[in-house]
Amino acid sequence: MVATICKICGSDKEWERCWIGCEEGYYDGYDDDPLWYEPGDMIPCSACNGKGGFWICPNVADEQHRAFFEDERNRLRASTESPALPGIASQVEIPLASGPESGA
Ligand SMILES: [Zn+2]
Ligand SMILES: [Zn+2]
Repeated sequence: MVATICKICGSDKEWERCWIGCEEGYYDGYDDDPLWYEPGDMIPCSACNGKGGFWICPNVADEQHRAFFEDERNRLRASTESPALPGIASQVEIPLASGPESGA
C-alpha cells in the first residue's frame, strides 16, 4: 500500500478505514440482501470500491480544501444539469455503425 499525496495541499494522506465497516473492502452480502446472497458471500464494498478504506488528507476540513471540493461539486452539477449534451444529441443524426464488426 503506497501513501498518496494530497493534490490540494501536498500533505501525506492518512489511511481511514471504510466507514461502513467492511472487512478489507468486502462485506457479507447476506447482511445486505438475504434474498440474493448466502451467509458468507463476500461482495466488494461499494463505498470504498473494495479498497477497505480511503486516503484522506489530514487537512481536509480547512478552508482551502473546502473551497476545492465546493468547486468540484459545482463543476459536477453544472455538467450533469447542462442541456447541451442531450440537446446536441437530439439534433444530430447519429449514423449507425457501418459494416459488420465480426471476425476482427
Ligand atoms: Zn490536503
Ligand atoms: Zn468499504
